[in-house]
Amino acid sequence: MVTTSDPLIGLAAGHLTGPLVRALGLPRPRALRRETGPYRGDELHGRRLVLAAMPGGHAGQSARGLLQALGASLVMETELASDATARVDIAVFDATGCREVASLAQLRTFFAPLLRRLAPCAKLLLLAPCPLDAARISPEAAAAAQGIEGFVRSLAKELGRSHAATVNALQVPAATVGGLLGPLRFFCSSRSAYVSGRILRLEAGLGVPAAPDFPTVPGRLRERLAVVTGAARGLGAATAERLAEEGARVLCIDVPSAESHLRELARRIQGDALSLDITSAAAPTVLCDWLRQHPGMAVDVLVHNAGITRDRSLFKMSEAEWSQVLAVNLQAILAIDGALDQADLLAPGAREICLSSISGIAGNAGQTNYAASKSALIGYVAARSTLLASRGATINAVAPGFIETDMTRQIPWFIREAGRRLNALSQGGQPRDVAEAVAFLALPESGAVRGQTLRVCGQALMGA
Ligand code: NAD
Repeated sequence: MVTTSDPLIGLAAGHLTGPLVRALGLPRPRALRRETGPYRGDELHGRRLVLAAMPGGHAGQSARGLLQALGASLVMETELASDATARVDIAVFDATGCREVASLAQLRTFFAPLLRRLAPCAKLLLLAPCPLDAARISPEAAAAAQGIEGFVRSLAKELGRSHAATVNALQVPAATVGGLLGPLRFFCSSRSAYVSGRILRLEAGLGVPAAPDFPTVPGRLRERLAVVTGAARGLGAATAERLAEEGARVLCIDVPSAESHLRELARRIQGDALSLDITSAAAPTVLCDWLRQHPGMAVDVLVHNAGITRDRSLFKMSEAEWSQVLAVNLQAILAIDGALDQADLLAPGAREICLSSISGIAGNAGQTNYAASKSALIGYVAARSTLLASRGATINAVAPGFIETDMTRQIPWFIREAGRRLNALSQGGQPRDVAEAVAFLALPESGAVRGQTLRVCGQALMGA
C-alpha cells in the first residue's frame, strides 16, 4: 500500500535541519503517535491520566472507572504540584454538569494549568451536555453547552501545532453513560491521532448496556463478516487490514481491473476477494448471492468505501463526469443497502460505515459532483440510522480530510502541500487513521454513536 511520506516531519525534528525549518518560517509538523494491532484490554497501559468534574456532572465517575480499567494511571493533583517534571498523557473533564454560563470558567481553571504538563500527542477530552436538548433545558444551559464546542475547537487549534495533541468532546446525556466505553477508548488513545476538534453525540437506547460489555481479549470482531468496497488499495485496503486485525473475516470488493491487488490483499488478511463493479446493475444480486453461498454469512460490518473523483468546474463538466461520480459514490450504496435489506442479509447489531469527505461538508471548487455525492451520504446516514436502530444496527459516516494515498498523490504539488498543511496538525493523515475511525464505529461497544459523521482531518480549516 502506497503512503506518501511527509519529509517535513523528519526535517522539523532533525537537530541540524529543525532550526532551519524554523528560520524559514515553515510549518513544523510533529510525528503523531499511532497504535498498531488490535485493541488491547489494557489499551491505555502506562498513560498518565488527569480527570476532574464540574459539580453536578454525571459521567466523570464512569469515565474514571473505564479509563483505569483500560490501564491508565490516575495522576493526583498533589503529584503534579510536587513534581515539576510530571507529564500528562490524557486529560478528561466532565462538564456534563455545565448548566450556567458562569460555569464555563471552570474549563479554563482545569485546562490552563495543565497545558505546560502535556506530553507530546496528549489526548484531551471533554464530556459535555448536548445543546440539542434545548427543548428540555433552559436557554442559558443551551448556551453553556454550545460554548463548550467553541472552547474545544479553539483549544484543539492551539495544541495541534505545539503538542500534536488532540482535543475532542463527547456529548453524554445521562441515559447514555453506559455507552461510553468505545468512544472513550477511541478518543483517549492514539487510535484517534488525526481526529481533533470533533464533537460526537452519544445516543440512548440501542447498544447502550447498563454496564459496559468490557472486552478483555483482543479481536472484538472474531467470527464476524466485514464487507469493504474499493478494498484493492488506499483507504479501503487499510480498512480491510484493520478490521482483519480485530478478527473479522473480510470480503474485499473492487473492480475487475484491480483483481490482482485485491486477491493479494485477501490472501494476506485471510479474507475473500470478489471482483465486482458496484455500479453494475447486477452488483447487489451478486453480493447477495455470494452471501447466500456462504451459509451463516450475514454482514456484520459494511464499509461503503469505493469512491471516485472526476473534478472539473461545473461549467465544463460533462454529463458522464457527473453521473459516474454519483453512480459510484452514492447510487451504488443505496442499491446495495436496498438489496441487503430486502434479503435480510444485514446481521442483527450490524455496523454500517459510509466514506464521505470534508468536501461534502465544506464544498470544493471543481467538485460539485463529488461534494454532492459525499454530502448526500451525510443526510443518508442520519436518516437510515433510524431505520437500522429498529434492528439493533447502526450507520455512521467517516469524512476524511487530506489523507496520503494514491488519490491525493495525483494532486499537483502546490495544491497538495496546501491540503496537507491547512489543518491543526500541519500534516496529512495516513490511511491507518481513517481505518482506525472505521474500526471504532464497527465495534460492538460503539453502539451509542449513530447517524453521525466523524471527520478524520486533523481539524482541517476547510469547513471547520
Ligand atoms: P482510491 O482511489 O485510492 O481507492 C478507491 C478504490 O475504489 C479503488 O481501489 C477503486 O478501484 C475502487 N473503486 C472505484 N470504483 C469502483 C467501483 N465502481 N466498484 C468497485 N470498486 C471501485 O481512493 P482512496 O483515497 O482510498 O479513497 C477511499 C474513499 O475515501 C473514497 O470514497 C474517497 O472518496 C474517500 N475520501 C478519500 C480522501 C483522501 O484523502 N484519500 C479524502 C476524502 C474522502
